[in-house]
Amino acid sequence: MSRIDLHLHTTHSDGSLRPSDVLALAKQANVSALAITDHDITTGIPEAMAAGQELGIEVIPGVEISSFDGKSELHILGYCVNWNEAAFNQRLARLRESRHRRNPLILERLREAGLDVTYDEVCALAGTESVGRPHIAQLLMQKKYVNSAKEAFDRYLAEGKPAYVARELPTPAEAISWIREAKGVAVLAHPTWVKESGEGLRTCVKALKEAGLGGVEVHYSTHTKSQTSQYLELARQLDLLVTGGSDFHGVTKPDIDVGNGRGDLKVNPRLLLPLKEAAARL
Ligand SMILES: [Zn+2]
Ligand SMILES: [Zn+2]
Repeated sequence: MSRIDLHLHTTHSDGSLRPSDVLALAKQANVSALAITDHDITTGIPEAMAAGQELGIEVIPGVEISSFDGKSELHILGYCVNWNEAAFNQRLARLRESRHRRNPLILERLREAGLDVTYDEVCALAGTESVGRPHIAQLLMQKKYVNSAKEAFDRYLAEGKPAYVARELPTPAEAISWIREAKGVAVLAHPTWVKESGEGLRTCVKALKEAGLGGVEVHYSTHTKSQTSQYLELARQLDLLVTGGSDFHGVTKPDIDVGNGRGDLKVNPRLLLPLKEAAARL
């Protein structure tokens, strides 16, 4: 049976494969519909749509916007967005600039820690407008300072580590309103990032719903069975849509495959219609 995958990254942000290559993998994995959700950028969508047409895969225009609620970095996915709308893209461009301000500071800290790395090297390796920490991790791997992207984050780049630099980010409510203004459905990505559980999580997601959130990413590569059922119950209680995706990145997350996650992800194609209907009502 076919499946869908509503969370995929490409070379337009920090994924390692071009949109057309991601679509080719999706075809092999029997994915009938997917969303390209690059970080803070929509430029990968046209190539994905063209490839989708050729391969018979429905491509939902998507994006993943980073935000900060004062406690946790929360990622808000946008689906069925008017991805070529000027105002929306200007907002995303400003958000990417905040990374450009942050990245050189991270590199400075890495040099202070004794690593021989420059931001020019990171940009050359990234080859995209949307340069992020995974690209820095890739450079650290290339230069043999670490063996994996995970090690780069654990030793240097993650919050609390020597090269961590906080970023100016919109609030989740702002990210949601940008997506809504571009006629998209806003969905909370990987809810494990909410540093709350039980009632605290419910309160947080309820507040996001009041700000316009339309759904929760219940099915996700790294969710345990109990997390999946917890988020499913939460979505039911709060009357939010259920979505799911792998968060495929290619080499920076080598254990995650398009459509299959870590092997046991299978997002039901039936989840797509309610999402599209919700977008049509906006
Ligand atoms: Zn994310
Ligand atoms: Zn993602």
